[in-house]
Amino acid sequence: METRNGRVRPATTKATRASIDDEADSILTTKAVSAAYDHPTPRDASIRWRCADHGAPELFDPTDDETLTAARDFCGGCETKDLCLDLGVRRGEWGVWGGVLLEGGKPVDQPRRMGRPRKVSAA
Ligand code: SF4
Repeated sequence: METRNGRVRPATTKATRASIDDEADSILTTKAVSAAYDHPTPRDASIRWRCADHGAPELFDPTDDETLTAARDFCGGCETKDLCLDLGVRRGEWGVWGGVLLEGGKPVDQPRRMGRPRKVSAA
């Protein structure tokens, strides 16, 4: 175990699915919501989050189909996409996780359109 900011955290170890799940569960089950922001993803140095240094993070919060397609293509080449999607679903995340667009952790087909919905004519 290691401590950071006064909190005890699991020590990072070689990445195995079990150790990642254990760490993800410790994040998910914490009562301190801020811990999820402080420690959003498993920190194991051997895990390669392909988008970690991406220059345009808005790609993963698409507002049109073209951006969604680009995000899906980028995630397609990510070696941690299964773990990423699992975390996104379990934590009720929004945006593209593991190549899947999520809204509150639920997969959706299209990005939300900005602005007011169109008025329906009563004709
Ligand atoms: S699958 Fe997840 S970690 Fe990988 S590039 Fe896509 S959003 Fe990033």
